[in-house]
Amino acid sequence: VLHFKLLGSAAGGGVPQWNCACPLCLGCRNGTHGFISRLQLQAAISCKPGSWFLINASPDLRCQIEGNSILQPSPRQGRRNTPIRGIILTSADLDQVLGVLLLREFQPLTLYATSVVRQVLESNSFFEMLTRIPNQLTWVEISPNVPFVLDDEITCTPISMAGSLPHYAKNLRIDGSKSRLANIGLIVESGTSRLAYTPSVPEITEELQAIYNSCEVIFVDGTFWSDTELNSTHAGTPLARAIGHIPMSGDKGMIASLSSVKGPHKIFVHINNTNPVLNQNSSEYKYVCEAGWQIGYDGWELK
Ligand SMILES: [Zn+2]
Repeated sequence: VLHFKLLGSAAGGGVPQWNCACPLCLGCRNGTHGFISRLQLQAAISCKPGSWFLINASPDLRCQIEGNSILQPSPRQGRRNTPIRGIILTSADLDQVLGVLLLREFQPLTLYATSVVRQVLESNSFFEMLTRIPNQLTWVEISPNVPFVLDDEITCTPISMAGSLPHYAKNLRIDGSKSRLANIGLIVESGTSRLAYTPSVPEITEELQAIYNSCEVIFVDGTFWSDTELNSTHAGTPLARAIGHIPMSGDKGMIASLSSVKGPHKIFVHINNTNPVLNQNSSEYKYVCEAGWQIGYDGWELK
């Protein structure tokens, strides 16, 4: 049986964000009714007790491990151990990979990533901290549309998503034909469970709609409510679509574009601290719920 747990649900920066005094962040800091703090996006999957795979590794990973006993070492297994069997990386975005560096205490790790994500990480000298002892890091190369199996019972199939490499990797020479390996989504299947995990959705293709329609649960990019939300909060920052996120609202927004996807449980994740749906008293939050969506929260689980 597939066990899926969300350990964080916010976009990079979390909610509240350290340098933000907006009403949403203030509401979370002050514990106002309807405002819920969130760690940065993190998911974990398992089909066997004591064996977990992380989907990405957030900058909040240490808190997420210490806050969830399922991810903690067991004294019965000796002084040094972890139930974390591997980490699947869906992109090289800092918010998705910084947590890998936090797991550097000479612990052998298995990373599942595309060749491009691996190349980006290996080109960064910080990651040499993960190759200090033999076999500390094991890479498993994954590719779009090629299923791979975890613990004999979970099948993951990467889906190529549009999108580019993160800003910090802009000077790396990556073959243009490999851009489809920069950002992936995942179909996760075990037994009769089938879910899609797509925290970064720059465009909705017919293929993606068909995948969503075939799933029991879908986790979808809910970074922004509107295209201009970030820009209107911080002058000089880009529009949502310009940085690879379809906003929730609007004619061509996520809610409208996926209105024909009726089968699965639809959950928004990767919520930015500027998104008004973070206030459960807001009209935007009510709109999302009435449209049949749920706003993902830390601790959400399927088992
Ligand atoms: Zn804020």
